[in-house]
Amino acid sequence: MSNIEQTLSIIKPDAVERNLQDKIKNEFIDKNFEIINEKKIHISKEEAEKFYKVHETKPFYNDLCTYLSSGPICVMILQKENAVLENRKLMGATNPNDAEEGTLRKKYGISIDKNSVHGSDSIENAKIEIDFFFKN
Ligand code: ATP
Ligand code: MG
Repeated sequence: MSNIEQTLSIIKPDAVERNLQDKIKNEFIDKNFEIINEKKIHISKEEAEKFYKVHETKPFYNDLCTYLSSGPICVMILQKENAVLENRKLMGATNPNDAEEGTLRKKYGISIDKNSVHGSDSIENAKIEIDFFFKN
């Protein structure tokens, strides 16, 4: 049975800054993700705070929001069978040092904060995150 899902992916400032956008997009395309919509934007700190609100009690929240708003990012809607989980697998562990060979964070990530990509962690959050960036 087919289980086509959509998930939200962000190419973070550290990767856009190093011109890795096309390389990372090609990694998604090679794994049969369809890029349904995409845009390059530079969000404000307030928008980053809204986006990462689930982490507001964490000690790294402020730095995380400062970082995500520090430069242009590329946000994309990715579509594929089991897209949420498949994207998380392709991304690898949060800390690039722990990420498996071949994953995006292993290949491109610099550190736990500059880990190059974001991906929705559940179908429910994927819907919320897609709406956040693409509704109107
Ligand atoms: P993302 O949401 O960006 O896809 P993730 O789901 O793998 O990453 P989360 O637990 O949601 O990880 O954390 C969000 C972001 O906060 C991470 O991408 C990382 O940059 C940062 N972060 C997470 N844990 C730490 C930590 N212990 N110290 C510093 N930064 C952290
Ligand atoms: Mg997360």
